Amino acid sequence: MQKIHHLINGQSVPSTSGRTSPVFNPATGAQSAELDLASIEEVDAAVAAAKTAFDEWRQVSLARRTKLMFAFRNLVDANTDEIAKRLTAEHGKVLSDAAGEVARGLENIEFACGIAEQLKGTYNENASTGVDVYTVRQPLGVVAGITPFNFPVMVPLWTIPNAIACGNTYVLKPSEKDPSAPMFLAELFHEAGFPDGVLNVLHGDKVAVDRLLEHPDVKAASFVGSTPIAKYVYETGTSHGKRVQALGGAKNHMVVLPDADLELAADSAVSAAYGSAGERCMAISVVAAVGDIADPLIDAISVRMEKLSIGDGTNPDSEMGPLVTREHCDKVADYVGVGADEGATIVVDGREKQFDGDGFFLGTTLLDNVTTDMKVYQDEIFGPVLSVVRCETYTEARDLISNNQYGNGAAIFTRDGGAARDFQENADAGMVGINVPIPVPVGYHSFGGWGDSLFGDTAMYGPEGVRFFTRPKALTSRWPDPSTSSVNLGFPTNT
Ligand code: NAD
Repeated sequence: MQKIHHLINGQSVPSTSGRTSPVFNPATGAQSAELDLASIEEVDAAVAAAKTAFDEWRQVSLARRTKLMFAFRNLVDANTDEIAKRLTAEHGKVLSDAAGEVARGLENIEFACGIAEQLKGTYNENASTGVDVYTVRQPLGVVAGITPFNFPVMVPLWTIPNAIACGNTYVLKPSEKDPSAPMFLAELFHEAGFPDGVLNVLHGDKVAVDRLLEHPDVKAASFVGSTPIAKYVYETGTSHGKRVQALGGAKNHMVVLPDADLELAADSAVSAAYGSAGERCMAISVVAAVGDIADPLIDAISVRMEKLSIGDGTNPDSEMGPLVTREHCDKVADYVGVGADEGATIVVDGREKQFDGDGFFLGTTLLDNVTTDMKVYQDEIFGPVLSVVRCETYTEARDLISNNQYGNGAAIFTRDGGAARDFQENADAGMVGINVPIPVPVGYHSFGGWGDSLFGDTAMYGPEGVRFFTRPKALTSRWPDPSTSSVNLGFPTNT
C-alpha cells in the first residue's frame, strides 16, 4: 500500500502521529494509499520551516521570483497529463475535466508571473512641499491554505502562486480524499528551483486545521470547502488575529427565460449540473424555468441525460465519473428519495442506473416541481441531481436567488438585453453568467461568492488575491533642501 507523507522543508516527512486516513480510487472502490495525518508537533514543524524560509524568501528579487514562477508554470504545463492522471485516480472526474482543471490553475500561475506589475505601489510627490508619501505592499509572513477535494489542483493554485510571488511562505493542507495531485504539484514547485520551506504540504484533519488556525506564526488562512467548516475556519482564524478568506458551499441557479436559445440552455444545464458528477462549487443545481419554456426544456435536458456516458474517468468515452466516496454517493442517492417524499416529480431517477463493480457511481437525476420549502432545494447536495423550480415571471426567478442563503454563481439564459442587464445588476451572487452557465472568472479577475458562499471580505486570486496576501505600508519622507547641503551640489546658494 502506497504511503503518503508530509513535505516539510523540501523533505518527505513520515508522520509519527499514528493516525492515517485511507485514499480510494472511486472508480473501483479500492483503497489505493494510506495518508499520514499530522500531529500538532508536525504542524509546528511545517510552520517553523516556512517561518525560517520567509526571512530569505521575502528578500528575493522580483526578477528572480518571476523567473522561478515561469519555470513552475512550464513544468505544470508540460506535466498536465500526469497531473490529470493522478487527479482522476483519486477524485474520479474524467481525464479531460482533470486536464481542464490544470489549465484553470495555470492561469493563476501565469498571473503571478506578472507580480511585479501588481506590487508597484503608489507615490505622491510633494504631498507637502518637499514631502513625498508613498505606499508599498509587503508580504504577511507564513500563510496557510486549506483546500477541498473537488478541485485538488486548481484550488491550491488559486492561492499558492500569488501568496508566494508576493513574498510569503506557505503551508498547504490539502483534502485528505485526493492528496496525490497536490503533492505532485509541490514536487514540480521544488523542481522549478524554489528554496526549501517556501511551500510545505501537511496532510491532516481537524487537528491540523485547528493548529494552523491558532498558531501565532501563521498570519493568514485561505480556506475553500463547505459552508459550516468555512464559517468555523473564519471565526476561529479571525479570533486568533489572522486574516481569513473562507469560501463555502453553493446552490447555483440558472434562470431560463421563454426566449432563451433552448438547445444552448439544455446543453449548458446538462454540462453544468452533471459535469464532474455535480461536485463543483459552481455547478448548476437549480434551473428556474420561467413560463412556458419549462416543458420543452425538461424534455431537452432529459434527452441529453439519456446519452450521457457514465464510467471510469480514465476511459476516454466517459463524460461523467464516480462520486468521491461511497458515503457521499449514498448521501446523494438518499436526496433523490427525500425529494420524492417532499412532493417533487422524479423525471429521471439516477438510482435506477446499474453499474458493474464496486465504484462509487450514481446515475444522473432530474427533479421537477421543486419548491423552495423542500430540503432538496435548500441543501447543497453536491452530486448529479438537478432541480427544476417553475416560475411565472422573470422577477420571481431572480428573487429566488436573493432569498437563497448562498450567493456563489448565478446564470441567466435569454435573448432579452433588458432582462440580462437587470440580472447583471441585481442578481445576488458574486459571479454572474449571461448565457454562460459556470461563470468562473479568469485568473486576472477574482473569484468569490456572496452570502454563505464566502466569509471574509476578499475574493480569491487575481488582484483581490494580491491584496489578501500583502499589507500596505504608507511612508512619508522629507529630505533637507538640497541648496542647504554641505556638499556643493551646484545649486545657486551653494556657490
Ligand atoms: P469540506 O468542508 O469537508 O473540507 C474542506 C477542507 O476542510 C478539507 O481540507 C478538510 O480536511 C477540512 N475539514 C473538514 N472538516 C473539518 C473540520 N471539522 N475542521 C477543520 N477542517 C475540516 O469540503 P469538501 O467536501 O472537501 O469540498 C466540497 C465543498 O467545498 C462543497 O461544499 C463545495 O461547494 C465547496 N467548495 C466551494 C468552493 C468555492 O469557491 N466557494 C470551491 C470548491 C469547493
